Amino acid sequence: MSLPHFPLFIDGRFVEGATGNRFEAINPYNRLPWATVAEAGDEDVAAAISAARHAFETTWRKTNGLQRSRLMHKLADLLEADAGRMGHMESTDNGKVIRETRPQMMFAARAYRFFAGYADKLWGSQIPLDKRDVFDYASQEPLGVVALITAWNSPMGLLANKLAPALATGNCVVIKPSEHASATTIEFCRLAQAAGFPPGVINVVCGAAQTGRALVGGAIDKVSFTGSAGIGREVAMEAGRRLVPVTLELGGKSPNIVFDDAHFERSASGALAGIFAATGQTCVAGSRLLVQRGIHARMVERLAERARAIRLGDPLEESTEMGTAANEPQFRRILEAISQARADGARLVTGGGAATEGDLAGGYFVQPTIFDQVSNGMRIAREEVFGPVLSIIPFDTEEEAVAIANDTPYGLAAGIWTNDLARTLRMTRELRAGQVWVNTYRSLAVQAPFGGVKESGYGREKGEAALNEYLATKNVMIDFSEQDADPFAVKT
Ligand code: NAD
Repeated sequence: MSLPHFPLFIDGRFVEGATGNRFEAINPYNRLPWATVAEAGDEDVAAAISAARHAFETTWRKTNGLQRSRLMHKLADLLEADAGRMGHMESTDNGKVIRETRPQMMFAARAYRFFAGYADKLWGSQIPLDKRDVFDYASQEPLGVVALITAWNSPMGLLANKLAPALATGNCVVIKPSEHASATTIEFCRLAQAAGFPPGVINVVCGAAQTGRALVGGAIDKVSFTGSAGIGREVAMEAGRRLVPVTLELGGKSPNIVFDDAHFERSASGALAGIFAATGQTCVAGSRLLVQRGIHARMVERLAERARAIRLGDPLEESTEMGTAANEPQFRRILEAISQARADGARLVTGGGAATEGDLAGGYFVQPTIFDQVSNGMRIAREEVFGPVLSIIPFDTEEEAVAIANDTPYGLAAGIWTNDLARTLRMTRELRAGQVWVNTYRSLAVQAPFGGVKESGYGREKGEAALNEYLATKNVMIDFSEQDADPFAVKT
């Protein structure tokens, strides 16, 4: 039986790569190939960039905001109508549970609607100068051709964060999804085509690191990258060599901090949501749980009890709470991190290896794992695992919690659980992270700006702030004084 095949999407057409090479998409639930994907070589990447350039110059930059907005709303309609099928496909490709992937399609559609609303409101400004006879205005212009590179954990969600503001502001794009989860990005192009986007506005090239390198090294005007800090650094160096601006959404080692006075059960749920939702394969994972000494023992016990009760299973089953590691290299990385933590002396409370009971043996399942008495210097507290592995770190005082929380190369997210208002305000001020949650965790909204500090990256996605990532300001100064000015004096 032949497997479904996902081609490239270049200049409005579904095409094979010039070499004809294909790679397999593996279903992490049964470790079997479920589809094939066309691989883009350098030639295909160049073709996609030139299609985007042509579309930008001839069509897209000449559209008005209302036209772009209408297309984006139509795309959102189609994605909402197809959320079930698209969610099913994404869960098959990356092992994320259907109860998350399906709503994520709706969330992605919401992003297209939110930014569609900006497409016809990209105001410039008129700037009063000291001279009355000089008229000055600043306008906002698209950058041109933007490379969008995404990770495998939420292909459609991560793409929407980039593509929606890029399209609304009038840019054309070349997308490279992860080689571990490419299917929905290609399928999405069928929706974009049906919505009526002109050829070349959206292009997709699939493949691994070499395809990404060819794209970043190509004739593009901007890169927006979501992935690991290591590859982010490489991307930024290459873009820097060519002076192309970059947005980086990278990893984290986020602290989730529970004080004695917090609502106990809600904070326990928040801790679980932070590390076991999406199998811990989320950039904002609250992988370091800082617990104040007074409730520490009780919290460890409660979390262990709840972690043992998590339902692992077929990601496509509604009742499943935790799916698989998304791919084999990630599965191995998680298991290695667990072994290393044990070797380093962290106390294993529950989990600690692959989950192999019954049907689980066939997939890349990892037990929900909790380590206690972790010291912040251990590797398990410093390096991103990107899996269902929680490190519990006890603390005594607020100052100590802040010091531990900020002692990390990352700065993506942080959580605080307390009912003390003054402490909340002190903590939100002191924590070095792009996103701080209070009495909630892993809550995201398209209206709220999102991004990191330190090695978690730079630039912002979502919210109005995202528009700036895809726009350049042009200032125009018009002298209508009709006077001859001294050519050798500065004109003030
Ligand atoms: P990765 O860095 O390995 O790969 C990311 C993307 O870059 C993939 O499409 C990959 O093919 C491509 N790539 C690899 N080498 C490249 C190169 N030299 N040049 C250009 N592109 C290249 O990351 P991953 O394993 O796919 O994803 C997991 C990581 O993503 C984690 O670190 C996670 O925290 C991060 N992430 C961050 C966010 C966020 O919003 N901050 C969201 C999701 C995931």
